[in-house]
Amino acid sequence: MSDCLFCKIVAGDIPSTKVHETETTFAFRDINPQSKVHVLVVPKAHHEDVVELAAADPQLLADVIATGAAVAKAEGMDVSGFRFVFNTGEHAGRTVFHAHLHVLGGEQLGLFGRPTG
Ligand code: 5GP
Ligand code: ZN
Repeated sequence: MSDCLFCKIVAGDIPSTKVHETETTFAFRDINPQSKVHVLVVPKAHHEDVVELAAADPQLLADVIATGAAVAKAEGMDVSGFRFVFNTGEHAGRTVFHAHLHVLGGEQLGLFGRPTG
């Protein structure tokens, strides 16, 4: 998709700090990290969100998860632990409409799921 931010990052048209890449996935550091380690993993192919991705291409979703696990290991979080997050829709505060996995960790994480404010 020509006007999709993460498609542009995958294509290299918008710079990012890449941490891992496979044939089907791309992982880069979040520009506004919510924890010491905050990496985004995206399928290279455009999919709207994780629910649509799961229905359209379950293997590609498995590839995204496997890349997230590889990132967690490479960042030294496989023993200490980490969090995978897929935000979907308005209540989750979703802002970018290309499916993406947040990989969070590198320190003790807080509670999640409560309303803000
Ligand atoms: P969402 O809220 O849609 O689940 O997450 C989108 C994430 O993309 C946010 O955590 C935000 O900080 C990150 N983000 C937005 N624009 C950019 C960008 O241009 N580069 C990078 N590396 N991350 C971005
Ligand atoms: Zn896209």
